Amino acid sequence: MEPANIANRITPSLTLAIDSKAKALKAEGKDICGFGAGEPDFDTPDHIKLAAAQALAEGFTKYTPSSGMPELRQAIAEKLKAENGVDYKPGQIIVSCGAKHSCYNAILATCNPGDEVIIPAPYWVSYPEMVKMAGAEPYLVPTKAENGYKLTPEELQNAISPSSKMLILNSPNNPTGAVYTENEIAALVEIAMEDDLFILSDEIYEKIIYDGAKPFSAASISKQIYERTITVNGFSKSYAMTGWRLGYLAAPEPIAKAIDSIQSHATSNPTSFAQKGAVAALKESQDCVKEMVKAFAERRDLIYSGLTAIEGISCVKPMGAFYILADISSFGLPSSKFCEALLEQALVAAVPGVAFGNDGVMRLSYACSKENLEKGLSRIRDFCARLRG
Ligand SMILES: *Cc1c(COP(=O)(O)O)cnc(C)c1O
Repeated sequence: MEPANIANRITPSLTLAIDSKAKALKAEGKDICGFGAGEPDFDTPDHIKLAAAQALAEGFTKYTPSSGMPELRQAIAEKLKAENGVDYKPGQIIVSCGAKHSCYNAILATCNPGDEVIIPAPYWVSYPEMVKMAGAEPYLVPTKAENGYKLTPEELQNAISPSSKMLILNSPNNPTGAVYTENEIAALVEIAMEDDLFILSDEIYEKIIYDGAKPFSAASISKQIYERTITVNGFSKSYAMTGWRLGYLAAPEPIAKAIDSIQSHATSNPTSFAQKGAVAALKESQDCVKEMVKAFAERRDLIYSGLTAIEGISCVKPMGAFYILADISSFGLPSSKFCEALLEQALVAAVPGVAFGNDGVMRLSYACSKENLEKGLSRIRDFCARLRG
C-alpha cells in the first residue's frame, strides 16, 4: 500500500531535524540555548483561562455552529471594525482551529489545480505546502535584505503570470520581522487588483509591533480590494494561546460561504470552551498584550545589538513579531550546515533559513528569557570567531 501522491509533494518540516537534535542533546543533559521557538514563552493570561474553565464547569461542552459561536464572531466583527477599519458581518467571519487552519481554508476555497500563488520569500514554512495540498503551485519571490525583506511592486509585477491567482502578504512577518507600511501594502494590492488576484493577508502578529510602527489591513483600502481580500488573524501570538488552536478569517460573502461548507465537513467547530476564552481575550483588558509586547521589545533590542556586533553577521532590524534573521552568508556555509555546527559545537539552536526559502540566513526567535538571549549571544560570538579562524 502506497500513500497518495500528495505525500510526495509535501516537504516534511525542515526545522524538525535541528529540533529533534536539540531535544536529544538536552536529554543528554546538555545546556542548550534555544532560539527555535515559534510561540510566545508567556503563559495564557489568567482571565482568559478562567473564562474557558468557567465555560467547562458550566457544561459548555457541545458542538457550536461550525464556523464558531455567534458571540465570538460578533466580538471579532467589532474588533475588526474598531481596530482595523474593516466592516464584516458576523456571517463573513469563520473561526477555525488556529490561523494555520484559516490560511489553509482560504487557499482551498480560492485556488484551483494549476493556479499559482505568489509567496514572498523568506516565507512562513507552511504557505507553500498548503498551496500544494490544495493542488495549486507556489510561486516563490525572493526579497532583498536591502529592501528590509519586503516585496517591492516591481518584484510583484514580474512575478505575475496568467496563472497567478493569489498573493500572500504577512505583515508583521514571520520570519523576517518586516512590517509593511500602509503605502507599501497599497502599492502591492493595487497591482494585485489589476491582475484580478486574491489577497491573503495574514495579520496574526499585528499586535506584536515596535517603535510606533502601525499594523495595516489590506481590506481597509477600498471596496474593490475588500472584495478580493481574505483577512486572517488569531489568538495564538497576541494572547499567548498557541495550544488553544483558535484563529479566524474574514472574507467577502461568497468566499466565507464556501469556507463555511468546507469547514463543516472537515473539522466542524473549533473547541467550544476555547471559544469562550477567546471572547474574554477580545473583550477584557488588553494590558496583558501591552506587557508582553514591552518584554518582546526589550529582547529585540538586546538580540539586534548583540547579533549586529558580531563580525560576519548582519541583520535587518525587526519591526514586529518575535523573530530576527541573521545573515550568515559571509561564512560561506549552507544554512543547515551552519546551524548544525552551531548546535553541535556551541549548543545554540536556531532555524536554518533554507526552511524559509533563503539559504544565507538563520532565524532566531527571541520569545525566550533574557538569560537565554545573553548566554546564547555570547556563544554565537565565540562560534563565529572560531569559524573565521
Ligand atoms: C503562528 C503563525 C500562524 C498560525 O498560528 P495558529 O497557532 O495556527 O493560530 C499563521 N501565520 C504565521 C505567519 C504564523 O507565524
